[in-house]
Amino acid sequence: MAGNRTFTMIKPDAVEAGNTGAILDQITASGFRIVAMKMTQMTKADAENFYAIHKERPFFGELVEFMTRGPIVAAILEKDNAVEDFRTLIGATNPEDAAEGTIRKKYATSVGENAVHGSDSDENAEIEGAFHFAGREMF
Ligand code: UDP
Repeated sequence: MAGNRTFTMIKPDAVEAGNTGAILDQITASGFRIVAMKMTQMTKADAENFYAIHKERPFFGELVEFMTRGPIVAAILEKDNAVEDFRTLIGATNPEDAAEGTIRKKYATSVGENAVHGSDSDENAEIEGAFHFAGREMF
């Protein structure tokens, strides 16, 4: 059965561009409840751990650099079928391939600087949420 929570980050490009409010508005208007949320800046070690699955990929260094260059907004979101519905809401990794109206289509500028993260499985949603939040920060 699909779980009801996912994890997201509004990435440094979107925070810098002043799109945090508009993105959160689209997320909540799409039926997601905010369970936990904070603005924070990832350290190099944080980003290397968070994206460890990509460490052999050619873009890894650039990704770590990008994700640590400024603050992010991290959040845990709740909705039926959260992981899949949120991936649909954000759109494809590359904004050129993202569907019209999706968050990445509207706010991403490249395949790397793509505005938002969304967990790709229930298992990763749990791991990624726990990476950023203690139990007492989830409501
Ligand atoms: N990424 C990148 N270059 C690529 C592919 C991905 O810089 O060619 C970055 C991008 O920020 C992406 C993240 O690495 O969101 C993780 O990649 P993944 O394939 O897991 O995409 P996602 O699940 O975020 O859509």
